[in-house]
Amino acid sequence: QRIPLVAGNWKMNFDHLEATYFVQQLAWKLRDIHFDYRHCEIALMPSFTSLRSVQVLVESDNLKIHYGAQAVSVTSQGAFTGDVSADMIAHLGCSYVIVGHSERRKYHPEDDANIVDQVRAVLAAGMQPILCVGESYEERRKGIELDFAVGQVHDVTRDLSDEEASRLIVAYEPIWAIGSGMVATPQSAQDAAKAIRDDLAETFGTHVGESVRILYGGSVSSKNAEELIGEPDVDGFLIGGAALNVDELTRICQLT
Ligand code: 13P
Repeated sequence: QRIPLVAGNWKMNFDHLEATYFVQQLAWKLRDIHFDYRHCEIALMPSFTSLRSVQVLVESDNLKIHYGAQAVSVTSQGAFTGDVSADMIAHLGCSYVIVGHSERRKYHPEDDANIVDQVRAVLAAGMQPILCVGESYEERRKGIELDFAVGQVHDVTRDLSDEEASRLIVAYEPIWAIGSGMVATPQSAQDAAKAIRDDLAETFGTHVGESVRILYGGSVSSKNAEELIGEPDVDGFLIGGAALNVDELTRICQLT
């Protein structure tokens, strides 16, 4: 039984005051609607600079909201100016780290080898990587989007142990859908999630295939969330823009 996950990727938005204010509002609104956290898990991914503040708030008020980071260093410590290690992130109570987001692949030198190492670092620190994959408009135009997304997951995960693979979360985020208002159809989100799940099952066994949560990301909103979550292999969302609006995010949690 896979519990749906609604994960908000705040990208480079919100300082620590805005972040904690948002978390308070979200917790309050969810309490107001008697939200059942057992049926849908919620996680927020603030900037590094907000993680400590979010941790203090979540722990002091015993909130059921999880949180994580948006990227991680592949090394554990040393002379790597500006980097943040997986242990540092884990020690702030983080459950998740986004790995391989298309914006990181584009603006930073992150290739598959680096992404494999990030996944390993996150797992070794006891957290769950949210591995982002998805085709550009070009691959979709050629009709190779499923092979492309499955290949991305396969290349990054194939050397993991079964136990490590079982702790993965995959986010299928077609690049053309990110921030564009053009959401994938429920059927194409389902096709991608199913293809990724089948490949994981083939590599690691059906137990892993059935347990890994596969999220959809790309222009998710309260208008399309219900249809998307209705698909059997879509286990939740990785949300950008709509996760910056507390009413919109509350509504999506309610629909998931
Ligand atoms: P949008 O929801 O703004 O399209 O962003 C999706 C995304 O990149 C989440 O990681």
